[in-house]
Amino acid sequence: MPRPIHATIHTAALQQNLARARAAAPDARVWAVVKANAYGHGIERAFEGLRGADGFALLDLGEAERVRQLGWRGPILLLEGVFEPRDLELCSRLSLWHAVHCDEQIDWLSAHKTHAPHRVFLKMNSGMNRLGFPPARYRAAWARLNALPQVDEISFMTHFSDADGPRGIAHQIDAFCTATQDLPGERTVGNSAATLRHAAGDARVRADWVRAGIVLYGGAADHPEHDAAHWGLAPTMTLSARIIGTQQLQPGDTVGYGSTFTADRPLAIGVVACGYADGYPRHAPTGTPVLVNGVRTRTVGRVSMDMITVDLTPLHDAGVEAGVGSEATLWGRAACGAVLGIDEVAQAAGTVGYELMCALAPRVPVAVD
Ligand SMILES: *Cc1c(COP(=O)(O)O)cnc(C)c1O
Repeated sequence: MPRPIHATIHTAALQQNLARARAAAPDARVWAVVKANAYGHGIERAFEGLRGADGFALLDLGEAERVRQLGWRGPILLLEGVFEPRDLELCSRLSLWHAVHCDEQIDWLSAHKTHAPHRVFLKMNSGMNRLGFPPARYRAAWARLNALPQVDEISFMTHFSDADGPRGIAHQIDAFCTATQDLPGERTVGNSAATLRHAAGDARVRADWVRAGIVLYGGAADHPEHDAAHWGLAPTMTLSARIIGTQQLQPGDTVGYGSTFTADRPLAIGVVACGYADGYPRHAPTGTPVLVNGVRTRTVGRVSMDMITVDLTPLHDAGVEAGVGSEATLWGRAACGAVLGIDEVAQAAGTVGYELMCALAPRVPVAVD
């Protein structure tokens, strides 16, 4: 028998979450952001659940090729544009739309030989200070692009730094709208958090396209202010393993490397076949939530490479049998239907659901349901 751990990607949940993103911006088209191998889900595995989107947005040209190989003929957007001049050949061949965020990318385009001119998304740095032209240089970049025979339609984009938090998006959207006011073309500004939190009351956020990432994968973009249930999102990835051993601790006994946990009373623990080499966060401290046979309990002691240890007391208290072979749900949906949100596990480990999804390790077998 293979080691008892596996992940499951839930097609119906992807569809539900996509519908939720659409409902948040009903007059906009939706980019399904599938960068980082569909946030760790696997582009091929997530495709069926996301093919109802209006386009796919990603970063890596290899991933764009994979989306085309799946038969997708609609829009594909390279969110960071091209990385070197010859990438433009692939854009021409596969009809990829691409961001343009720096002068070098315009230089490359101007030297590119193509039959079909490219559709580009001119990126503004409206305050995030990663990629894009600052507002003061935006029009000049647009004029340069607009003069190129290699360029067809020009669209406009920016990205928010604080859509999930108290600072919000007003300063950035104002800068973006002012600088693009009379420029003709489509616009896209909203990520998941902006779409969920700000799109309903602000047509500028919905714009022509929203870029839905984490929302599609069931992450509450603004956790812990809101959770996935609040936004009507379902988990799209379950990480599940089995208990492969048990121990009965006495007061004073310790668990695992570094003896970071000491029992203060008699305690039954289960040893689960999942560790940091599977993508479970090593920084998850004692107390990180986990489901055993659908019952909520906690980890105890340090996460090791191949195992974690969990407290079985809540199961005994609930009269639920647990032992070797019992199901442990690290995040996602248990067989009985109980859900443990990935955001909660991430928060306990001092990170975000995005990182946990993306870090699912290659050694974990993945099924699609
Ligand atoms: C990753 C990314 C998104 C999606 O972000 P979420 O927070 O997952 O919705 C949108 N736009 C750009 C430019 C991105 O890089």
